[in-house]
Amino acid sequence: MKEVILTVKKEFVTKYKNGYPLVFEDALESAKCLKDEGQIITLIDDKKAFLGRGYYGNQNKGCGWVLSNSKNSKFDYRFFYDKLRNAFSKRMRYYHSKDTTAFRVFNGEGDGIGGLTIDYFDEYYLITWYSKGIYVFKDMIIKAIKSLVSFEGIYEKKRFDENGMVLEEDSYYCGRKAPEPLIVKENGVNFAIYLNEGAMVGVFLDQKEVRKSIRDKYSKGKKVLNTFSYTGAFSMAAARGGAITTSVDLASRSLEKTIENFNINKINPEKHNIVVEDIFLYFKKAKKEELKFDLVILDPPSFATSKDHKFSAAKDYKDLVKLAIEVTENEGVIVASTNCAAFNMAKFKKFIDKAFKESNKHYEILEEHTLPQDFMITDKFPEGNYLKVLFVKVY
Ligand code: SAH
Repeated sequence: MKEVILTVKKEFVTKYKNGYPLVFEDALESAKCLKDEGQIITLIDDKKAFLGRGYYGNQNKGCGWVLSNSKNSKFDYRFFYDKLRNAFSKRMRYYHSKDTTAFRVFNGEGDGIGGLTIDYFDEYYLITWYSKGIYVFKDMIIKAIKSLVSFEGIYEKKRFDENGMVLEEDSYYCGRKAPEPLIVKENGVNFAIYLNEGAMVGVFLDQKEVRKSIRDKYSKGKKVLNTFSYTGAFSMAAARGGAITTSVDLASRSLEKTIENFNINKINPEKHNIVVEDIFLYFKKAKKEELKFDLVILDPPSFATSKDHKFSAAKDYKDLVKLAIEVTENEGVIVASTNCAAFNMAKFKKFIDKAFKESNKHYEILEEHTLPQDFMITDKFPEGNYLKVLFVKVY
């Protein structure tokens, strides 16, 4: 494939000089010569000075990534091997842990290669390719994994779709097939993982610190409401910490998945409530029945459409917090979480502040979380730090 040289528009030159890794069309004088995903690109400024080298690959955000700021860099086997080795060695603490057997071992641009993530689930690796472009380097990347670590099997997800959705196909790649479910541990809590079930395999690994905090500090003897509960991961943490939980999710699959997680944690699901319902309907009923909880967990998707409700985190988070305030005990705590990259922590705090003002309530922020250590980030790409979680005490 032919390498191409791309001129960066004047107003974006400083950005790339400072190491910004994401290439997007608006920053380029012309993207016309981009033809084959996976082709190597060199960015230059209007005076032909070198800015960076990387690859062309279309993602929901951007059309490629800068992989190196040195002019003579080659993207050969050695390059990928070094990046992966470096990333894996940063996770030694997790590899050596007996009570955490699932974590991220490679986090895209945070580990030096945008468009690629690799998660570890107890002897199985799950690779996610975010574009056809990065997929071109697949053989070298897999060879590097094979020479660096031993494993039972490798699975892969191709997020080539324009909206970043996973292509529906078999995710198995090589080695042994994973048991279904594959049971992993996170700080001693068990989770059932299905590596072959589309994009969501059962647990979101970026919440490990939040779940630990909930279990250790906010659960003993408490009543917990877990909204948008999916497989009940937060409920498991709370229940293991001694809480009685109510999990609410619209998807009917959440019922069996949550029961399964309780069972593999040796917790009797009958002592907990699992509700398959639109959360907005549930909030209405809970208010009418004057239900109150000591801890309310809000972790919605960035966008959600149900039969009678449209939710967008960027627009509606404040209103969601107001609904949560209505069902939270005085001196109870709301865990407000979002993975929406469209706003930062400062803005998120403003949503919270507004929600409390409009509800005539006081609050205190007890804890603030962003991505955990295995989700390596780079200060060159602040958007990569998408997770925002606040523990908010209600007065
Ligand atoms: N908080 C979860 C992850 C949420 S994933 C965790 O920690 O694992 C998003 C979930 O929101 C999905 O399971 C989806 O079914 C659910 N969902 C989307 N819209 C909803 C709604 N209106 N009411 C209840 N659940 C909803």
